[in-house]
Amino acid sequence: MRDEVEAPLAAESIPKVRWGRRMLMAVADLAMPPVCVSCQTPLVTHHALCAPCWAGIDFIRQPLCDRLGLPMPYGVGEGMISAAAAANPPPYDRARSVGIYAGTLKTLVHDFKFRDHQELRRLFVRWLLDAGAPFWADADLIVPVPLHRRRLLKRRFNQSAVLGRALGPLTGVPCRTNVLQRTRATAQQVGLTYQQRIDNVRGAFAVPENMAAQVCQARVVLLDDVITTGATVAACATALRKAGAGEVNVLAVALTVPGRDDGASGLAVPE
Ligand SMILES: [Zn+2]
Repeated sequence: MRDEVEAPLAAESIPKVRWGRRMLMAVADLAMPPVCVSCQTPLVTHHALCAPCWAGIDFIRQPLCDRLGLPMPYGVGEGMISAAAAANPPPYDRARSVGIYAGTLKTLVHDFKFRDHQELRRLFVRWLLDAGAPFWADADLIVPVPLHRRRLLKRRFNQSAVLGRALGPLTGVPCRTNVLQRTRATAQQVGLTYQQRIDNVRGAFAVPENMAAQVCQARVVLLDDVITTGATVAACATALRKAGAGEVNVLAVALTVPGRDDGASGLAVPE
C-alpha cells in the first residue's frame, strides 16, 4: 500500500527536480560561465579542458612498467617490469599515475596544490578513477599521503585527502585519513637529490597503534598528487607494510619521468 501511494508521487516529482536543477545550472552558468580549467577559454561545460590544453597532457597508457607505472617504449606482454624496478624493487606492489608531470598537468597540479584551485578536484577525480581501475575491485582502503600538522595549518587542506574523500563514494572503497600519520616535519623535497629525499622522509610516517587493526591484512590504495622520486610513497608504503598491510598500491595524479619534464612555467618539482 505504501509503495502504491509513494510511487506516483515520486514519478511526478522527478521532472520537477530535473527542471529545477536545469534552471539552477542555467543561472549558475550565467553568473559563472564554463571555462577551460587551465587557460580560461570559454567552453560549453564546467570542469573541463579546451582541446589545446588537453593535447598538452601526456597521459600514461600501456605499455608501462607493472611495478613503477613508468611508460615503456614498447610492450612485451602483461605484467612486464622495467629495468629500474628489477634493479631496485619498490616497497609497494604497483604504482599508477594519470599522466607525466609536465606541460598542462604540471600547471594544473600546482594550481590545485598551491593556489587553492578547488575546481580542479572533479577533473582529477575522474582521471584517478580511470588510472586506478586495476585497484578498485580488490581494495579495502584509500589512504592519502598525510601532511604534517604544521604544513596542513599553513596550506589549510591536504590535497591528497581532498581527492581521496571524493574517490571514496565513487569507488565504494572507504578513504581513511587517520590511519597513516606524519610523525615528524620534513624539509620540502624541492631541490634535494634522490638520496637526500630518501633520507629526508625515512621513518617520517607511521600507523598509530590504535589504527593498526584497520591496516592489518588490508589492501591499501595509497594516494598522492605527484610521484617525483617515489621516496615519499616508498616511506609511506614501508610504514603501512610494517603495520601488516596485505597489499599497497600507489595512485597519483602525476609522475615525474626523467627527461620528460619540460620545466613548464618554471615550476619547481614539489614533494
Ligand atoms: Zn585551455
